[in-house]
Amino acid sequence: MSSLQTLPYPHLLAPLDLGFTTLKNRVLMGSMHTGLEDKAKNFPALAAYFAERARGGVGLIVTGGFAPNVEGWLTPFGSRLASSRAAKPHRIITDAVHQEGGKIALQILHAGRYGYSPFSVAPSKIKSPITPFTPRELTLRGIERQIKCFVRAGKLAREAGYDGVEVMGSEGYFINEFLSTATNKRTDKYGGAYENRMQLPIEIVSRMREAVGTNFIIIYRLSMLDLVPEGQSWDEVVMLAKGIERAGATLINTGIGWHEARVPTIATSVPRGAFAWVTKKLKGEVSIPLITTNRINTPEVGEDIIAGGSADMVSMARPLLADPEFVNKAAANRALDINTCIGCNQACLDHVFQQKLASCLVNPRACHETEMVFTKTQNKKRIAVVGAGPAGLSCATELAARGHEVSLFDSAAEIGGQFNMAKVIPGKEEFHETLRYFSRRIEATGVRLNLNKRVGAGDLKGFDEVVIAAGVAPRNPKIPGQDGANVLSYIDVLLHKKPVGKRVAVLGAGGIGFDVSEFLVEDHSPTMDLAAWMREWGVGDPAEARGGLVKPQVGPPARQVTLLQRKATSVGKGLGKTTGWIHRAALKKKKVEMIAGVNYESIDAMGLHITYGEKHENPTLIECDTIVLCTGQDPLRELVAPLEAIGVKMHLIGGAFEAGELDAKRAIDQGLRLAYLI
Ligand code: FAD
Ligand code: NAP
Ligand code: SF4
Repeated sequence: MSSLQTLPYPHLLAPLDLGFTTLKNRVLMGSMHTGLEDKAKNFPALAAYFAERARGGVGLIVTGGFAPNVEGWLTPFGSRLASSRAAKPHRIITDAVHQEGGKIALQILHAGRYGYSPFSVAPSKIKSPITPFTPRELTLRGIERQIKCFVRAGKLAREAGYDGVEVMGSEGYFINEFLSTATNKRTDKYGGAYENRMQLPIEIVSRMREAVGTNFIIIYRLSMLDLVPEGQSWDEVVMLAKGIERAGATLINTGIGWHEARVPTIATSVPRGAFAWVTKKLKGEVSIPLITTNRINTPEVGEDIIAGGSADMVSMARPLLADPEFVNKAAANRALDINTCIGCNQACLDHVFQQKLASCLVNPRACHETEMVFTKTQNKKRIAVVGAGPAGLSCATELAARGHEVSLFDSAAEIGGQFNMAKVIPGKEEFHETLRYFSRRIEATGVRLNLNKRVGAGDLKGFDEVVIAAGVAPRNPKIPGQDGANVLSYIDVLLHKKPVGKRVAVLGAGGIGFDVSEFLVEDHSPTMDLAAWMREWGVGDPAEARGGLVKPQVGPPARQVTLLQRKATSVGKGLGKTTGWIHRAALKKKKVEMIAGVNYESIDAMGLHITYGEKHENPTLIECDTIVLCTGQDPLRELVAPLEAIGVKMHLIGGAFEAGELDAKRAIDQGLRLAYLI
């Protein structure tokens, strides 16, 4: 039997021979800005983060983006590689990765008009819809300077010990801006016909190849599906790919969608491997290996993509944030032990867009490797954890991994707490994976799990310490008539599956109100049906429509939903930075009416009576069959006073600690941090 047959994921884990070097498998850790790149003083932490991923077996790592000059800055004083002096501190990163047997490439990212900086430049003076600065239009000399800076960054990366570079040519950044007529209005040799517009990336790659020599990886990230009006046609994409190959690139990576595109490309509601078909279209057009990307988060998906001939390699960025040991676990046939990225963006992309250090909702150690160090306990204790929601699960399993004797109690019949409601929302199917991961961790770490057990203070005597992770109770909004049979809580709807009428008013437009609305308007989840999802978001074949944009076709909503809030601010304002627009757009497509600035006056058999504003004006009846309350939550702390009375040492985490601003990110993080302390 050949070694190929004995590997659990034979295509994904097969080496990739690049001629002058061989990658040990087909997994690329895709580029992801973490915030640690921006200051050299953070490079030891960045090195530890990458070293952990290299140790975990990934074939090739790509760093977050480094600008080749000030004009290419993503943010003022952000990451940049423009001098030998700046290259020196990178040695700590490349050495750390090489010591673990890994390989690493530096991404060169010129932000172009996406630069959040007054120095931004572009092919034409056209402001992007997502940045406040209008870029300066480059002269021919200016373009020449940018090319030289790209080439210099390539040489500096080599000097710093990197195995290669990735030239960022997609997502609507500088290079990509030359390729579309929407952003390139030039009339000189870099504008007009596509052959002219594609001249810039060709020159960058060919001159860089000349400068760095043959034995150095150059990945070119090529925008294969722009998803914006006036995006590239498929013929143009193919023409560019051929030119990039001739110019000397080693690998072509896939870019999907400009940042300003109004089609989700990586959120959890995007079907797994949703864009592998785009890369597959390019197979056979060039002979260098192709990398595909976006929403590939399990070894099975990666294996199927490569085995099915869609690509030669898969890029995963967030999945390696979520589990640095992804590849080793896959290779050891332990895929069920992988802590799967759920595509939420809450701790990674949302943080980066808020200028905060990135991490991961399901793995709060990500980017905190030097600060959160796992140690076995020297002082074994008997600990009870009350509540097996995200907070209790993370705390209990980490305490047990550290050597404590841990009993975990939950009154429900299954672990997961509120995640059991999140997982039934169309587009949130990934939340099942976190529960699967934690059930494996419970087994692996020896936590004693007691389900169907609602504990009282008396049950907790005899433990050295008690962790209260009992979560929350729905808030009572005290609306006259709310006890009627036509009023349900989100728990009734999502957990107890109580019947809901055809016309519904959802009260409260926080994360839960939005999720409940999505649950009520969708008959089936488009996330589980790629063709339906593409129709809903208007994604088509780029051979037939420029940029792959076609007219969306949305089916009728399963119910007529009105979503209300008391605040006068726009509905959905507090949702995730990078995902809120997707939730709002999805509900608008399903004709959900969103109303802000209301007072809930009363409920009766006809529906919900509201008024507007502080003066309670314009009384209106929202006629509906069912009213669903999603009006926030309060901490569940019924155990605190009795435990204090019997003098038990106690800790509060998750919703039980604080219900305001609670989410699973905080719950899991708090659970883990407490487990490190006890
Ligand atoms: P909980 O998840 O509420 O768990 C508490 C557990 O304690 C429960 O299982 C309960 O049965 C148990 N318990 C309580 N009292 C006792 C007792 N006396 N004895 C035994 N057991 C007890 N967050 C995000 O970050 N991102 C999302 O996308 C997201 N989507 C959501 C969608 C929905 C529909 C809902 C409802 C929530 C969502 N959340 C999301 C919120 C997230 O699920 C919560 O923030 C998180 O679950 C809080 O974790 P916790 O462990 O503190 O509490
Ligand atoms: P929330 O975001 O606090 O929203 C509660 C809603 O209820 C708000 O719209 C609030 O708006 C309204 N409300 C508050 N008090 C009220 C009262 N007394 N009477 C009537 N309405 C009242 O919380 P949530 O939706 O319950 O979600 C709980 C947590 O889960 C959130 O913190 C959220 O982060 C997390 N979650 C996240 C996601 C996600 O996708 N990231 C999804 C679901 C849940 P008004 O006061 O303006 O009416
Ligand atoms: Fe994935 Fe969410 Fe973690 Fe980001 S925060 S890596 S999207 S699980």
